[in-house]
Amino acid sequence: MSDVWDIVIIGGGVSGLGVAKAAEQKQLKTLLIEASFRCGKGTSDNSLRIMHGGFRYLQTGNVLRVWDSVGAQSELYRMYPDLVTPIPCVMPLDAVGLKSAPFAKIGLIAYDIIAKMRGVKIGHGSILDRDETYQRSPILRGHAEHGSLLWWDGILRDSDSLVGRIKEEFVHTTLKVSTRVNSVRRDGAYFSVVTAHETFKARSVVNTAGPWIKELRPHMPEIPDHYGHHWAAGFNVVLEGSIDQTHGIAVRSKEGRLFFAVPRTDAYGNKLTALGTGYILHEGDPSHNKVSEEIVLNFVKEFSGILPEAEVLGRKIMHVEVGLLPLRRPEPNALVGAVKISGERGYFEVLSTKYTTFLPQGRAVMRDVSAWLKESV
Ligand SMILES: Cc1cc2nc3c(=O)[nH]c(=O)nc-3n(C[C@H](O)[C@H](O)[C@H](O)COP(=O)(O)OP(=O)(O)OC[C@H]3O[C@@H](n4cnc5c(N)ncnc54)[C@H](O)[C@@H]3O)c2cc1C
Repeated sequence: MSDVWDIVIIGGGVSGLGVAKAAEQKQLKTLLIEASFRCGKGTSDNSLRIMHGGFRYLQTGNVLRVWDSVGAQSELYRMYPDLVTPIPCVMPLDAVGLKSAPFAKIGLIAYDIIAKMRGVKIGHGSILDRDETYQRSPILRGHAEHGSLLWWDGILRDSDSLVGRIKEEFVHTTLKVSTRVNSVRRDGAYFSVVTAHETFKARSVVNTAGPWIKELRPHMPEIPDHYGHHWAAGFNVVLEGSIDQTHGIAVRSKEGRLFFAVPRTDAYGNKLTALGTGYILHEGDPSHNKVSEEIVLNFVKEFSGILPEAEVLGRKIMHVEVGLLPLRRPEPNALVGAVKISGERGYFEVLSTKYTTFLPQGRAVMRDVSAWLKESV
């Protein structure tokens, strides 16, 4: 049965790579098929590159998600210390309410406890008073009357290098790039994964094709059809020059939109700022996921309204990064969260809204795949 793959993974974004990495550990005969000329060129190439420790999920009491994020972040620090490094982040606080200093302090204590329980080391956050905030981040002068929250997240230096590193680890995985899967069929005990020139026989299939996920779903009425109907185009605007060279700066507009300005350096050493993340509803062909100039300019203007000192309107827009993210319902901010949909009888789907958690997500999928492979012998 040498022509049968234990697992065929469709889509070499960070989700597919995470599953392939987990399959490697199980020494499964794996085929990873990617439509693009390189892995990681879809939504995964357009993230803000913040490897979230999940502090913000405390606001909604989602302790489980904090638990997952803290673990995932520290695993990335451990495995790729030259690619994922800690970055201090600052957010001005309100006088009262959930974003005031007393609540933020409780959040920091809870966060430390979760990290301790998980046995991971995180950078210690703190509450900064007004002057400490201005000292750390002069751009916030006049914007942090009630102090600010300082926390540590991870930042991924560059996604291509991480993808390259993961591929280097492949021993049992065969990678086919520039190969589009056209359909998936169940043929008796196996799956047929059909491309233009070949059909691959597989004992299990993991579909991580992002916005193309539904197109490739085989006809299996038992597969739940809850997700993959609505998509948001998420975008970051990459601007010339740095707003703050060392800190991520989070500020909220009067309209309630959260902006995160993150320092970047391009391949030539030029300082840039990635300003994220905006969301608009996306309809139609996933390949056409451009965001209009008007929307981009309004986004930058809204940020400029909060922090005029950053002079973003005078800066050159270097490029706009856009990727599609799955929604629970047709509202741009109703992201599904990192969802694993366990399909049935050897077919699995992953819809992701988080780069950070791709390693534990891959292992979770692999637990289901392994159980199926054992069951179906
Ligand atoms: C603007 C923006 C900012 C973000 N910022 C962050 C952040 O700071 N931190 C964070 O943790 N997350 C962030 N995210 C989320 C994160 O980027 C995504 O959740 C993640 O990259 C999704 O990866 P994926 O592999 O599921 O999808 P994709 O990267 O889209 O991968 C799907 C792959 O499938 C391939 N494919 C599709 N159809 C086929 C086919 N028929 N045959 C073969 N291959 C196929 C595609 O070519 C693609 O490579 C951000 C997302 C956006 C859009």
